[in-house]
Amino acid sequence: MLKDFVSNAALLIASFSIMGVLFKDKPLYPNSPLSSKLYWGICFGILGNVLMSFSIEVSPDIYADLRHLAIVIAAAFGGFIPAIISASLIAIGRFVLFGFSSTAFLPSIGVLLTGITCGILSTLKVKRTVKAFIMNMCGLIIVSIIFMIRIEDFAVLKNVLMMHYLISFIGGLFGYYFFVFVVDSNETQNQLKRSHIKLKETEERFRLITEYSSDMITVHNEQGEYVYISPAVKEVIQFEYPELLGKGMGKFIHPEDVERTNDMFQKALQESSAESTYRYRTKFGDYIWIESTLKSVPDLEDDEKKVIIVSRNITNRKLTEQKLQEANELLNRLSYMDGLTGIANRRYFDETLLKEWKKTNNSNQPITLIMFDIDYFKKYNDTYGHLKGDACLQTIAQAVNNLFSLDQYQSNYTFCRYGGEEFAIILPSCDTKDGYNISLQVQDTVRSLQVPHASSDVADIITLSIGMASIYPVKQSIPDTLIKAADSALYQSKSRGRNTISIYEKPGRIPV
Ligand code: GH3
Ligand code: MG
Ligand code: MG
Repeated sequence: MLKDFVSNAALLIASFSIMGVLFKDKPLYPNSPLSSKLYWGICFGILGNVLMSFSIEVSPDIYADLRHLAIVIAAAFGGFIPAIISASLIAIGRFVLFGFSSTAFLPSIGVLLTGITCGILSTLKVKRTVKAFIMNMCGLIIVSIIFMIRIEDFAVLKNVLMMHYLISFIGGLFGYYFFVFVVDSNETQNQLKRSHIKLKETEERFRLITEYSSDMITVHNEQGEYVYISPAVKEVIQFEYPELLGKGMGKFIHPEDVERTNDMFQKALQESSAESTYRYRTKFGDYIWIESTLKSVPDLEDDEKKVIIVSRNITNRKLTEQKLQEANELLNRLSYMDGLTGIANRRYFDETLLKEWKKTNNSNQPITLIMFDIDYFKKYNDTYGHLKGDACLQTIAQAVNNLFSLDQYQSNYTFCRYGGEEFAIILPSCDTKDGYNISLQVQDTVRSLQVPHASSDVADIITLSIGMASIYPVKQSIPDTLIKAADSALYQSKSRGRNTISIYEKPGRIPV
């Protein structure tokens, strides 16, 4: 009997293994497609027939077999359809294998009944193992009824039933768990296959993205060397793919940008991402502007991190930005420039004076303002014409401006056209004495120009009336105080007969 049982167990292992391999792509579940259930039902039917042929002698002339296990496992895993298909095939097999006889009806009906019962039980909302156990029990009860009808001797019946229950439980348990093993390993394999396909698809997608992206995608090791370069390299920096592999990118970066780019690379390694714009030397030796986004990723193959850099050529954008900046600077300069003389205008004067005033405030440093006005300029215009008047203003402005361009004046003195034929010089950190010296130099400079002024009442050349004031700004004082003081000194020069310098008469701190 043991021999028969072992061969039945071997049959189960062999059959389940073959079925597992044959239908590894068609797993058997209650929600599997109908075709899968059909294949598995047929297989379990064949298995039932094979098991029927390899019956186990449980008592002299009395044989039992594990055919119902084929139905139980079909129902437990696939539900009603494979159960009923396998049961029908086993019922038919009973006639085909052992001939048409009246005794064949009862086991065939029993098998069909097992199929229907197991099919119904498969809808139970319990664990699959419990379901299989209940089905096995039902199958056994049906077989027991058949034995009871067939065997009249109670002692033999008892013995047969005991043996049959024993081999069914052991065989059932063994068969069930082996099938679980087959199903699980198939599922694992399928999962692996699915993951592999998914991985391939993802790889393909990323390959397409990197290969067809107009942005250059490069991968670098921690030393900054190229380990991968996308084909856009040719378009962006004109190099061929292999020319850069293994080389450090630092070699191609503009010397002024190397440090900043290195910092960005280290930042990406430490903080995972960074951005940078820098100049890159192309294959033809010219520099182009590159904008890069850096991202560090751990490498699965070795412990080293890799840095993925997505780069694009932004030279045109940079050139436009540069032009825009230049235009802005020019606009800015023009808005502070006097159109006629080319020196700083009144707007610049107001802003600069305020700025210098604040800087000097409470610093214990004086600030000096010189204001000068061309004498009898209306008469000059009347005599020589307005255009000549313009030219005269330009000559005087340029001459005084040149004076401040000299080495000795490379300080923060500001010379402006205050309005009309009036000019102003802001002299921060400059006291009355130095201010007076500068006033004298301005006077001398204009005098040395020897611009004829025939209608002047004070000389036959252009002369200036100069007023200056020095103040130690205190808190809450305003620059108007200084303007008023310098203006009043200028008025004094006019009243004193012009062509002269006057200093505001209240030296030291001026009350606000
Ligand atoms: P004073 O000695 O008192 O300063 O007499 P002035 O004639 O110079 O002063 P006034 O204020 O009477 O006249 C200033 C003149 O400066 C009148 C104006 O036509 C002239 N002026 C102002 N701006 C310009 C300019 O941009 N170009 C020319 N050509 N003349 C200008
Ligand atoms: Mg004037
Ligand atoms: Mg004047």
